[in-house]
Amino acid sequence: MATASGTFCGVCETQHVVREADYWCPECEEGLCTLCEKHHQASRATRNHEVTSVNDYKRIPPTIASINQYCSDHEKKYQHYCSEHEKLCCPLCITTNHKKCDLLALDEIIKTSKTSALFDMMEQSLKDMKSNIKKIVEDRKHNLEIIQQQRQKMKTDITKIRNKINKHLDKLEQQIQQDIQAVEQKVQSQLERLLSKLSDHGKTIDKIQNDISSTKSFATDIQTFFGGKCLRPISKRKRSLCSP
Ligand SMILES: [Zn+2]
Ligand SMILES: [Zn+2]
Ligand SMILES: [Zn+2]
Ligand SMILES: [Zn+2]
Repeated sequence: MATASGTFCGVCETQHVVREADYWCPECEEGLCTLCEKHHQASRATRNHEVTSVNDYKRIPPTIASINQYCSDHEKKYQHYCSEHEKLCCPLCITTNHKKCDLLALDEIIKTSKTSALFDMMEQSLKDMKSNIKKIVEDRKHNLEIIQQQRQKMKTDITKIRNKINKHLDKLEQQIQQDIQAVEQKVQSQLERLLSKLSDHGKTIDKIQNDISSTKSFATDIQTFFGGKCLRPISKRKRSLCSP
């Protein structure tokens, strides 16, 4: 008997003894302890059975291990295979559900099962699938590398463009600063000239105001009369009257 935790000796179990199995007889479909395996080997009914170690039996995939040699409906050994229903048949199955089916003798077909073309094909297609997966993985890894390289290149390009823009902006700023400075200097010197002229005019006006005040206070009437004409801004004077 096989359980999730272990495989027990089927013969001992019939005597209500629980003992770990060391062997597995696929013919009897049960586990055997070392002692029972010795009897199994000696007994006429079972001496031709090819037993395997329990460890080897456990390596068989569960779906394969669950395929029995005995019909679960009639408890008789399967002897034929029905290719129409894809089912194993015992002699009783044949007389009930597969009367009209085309049956193959199991003894014949299992002889070549381990070397059959089906296994070769499956092994080949698994090999192909594996190699395809390997190719796809390599291809995608290569894609990843390319993407990383492209990102790196774009980063470098952006830095280059950024530097160019920065340089251009620096140049523009410098140019504008120079232009502004030139305009400022021009306006400044114009204003300075104007201010200097205005200052001169202011001084002239101060002097005339002083002269008028002194004339009014201290000069004679005649001096005042003619002085008024002489004290006008120089451009408007009549030279003949005022010349010394
Ligand atoms: Zn036993
Ligand atoms: Zn056996
Ligand atoms: Zn059956
Ligand atoms: Zn059938």
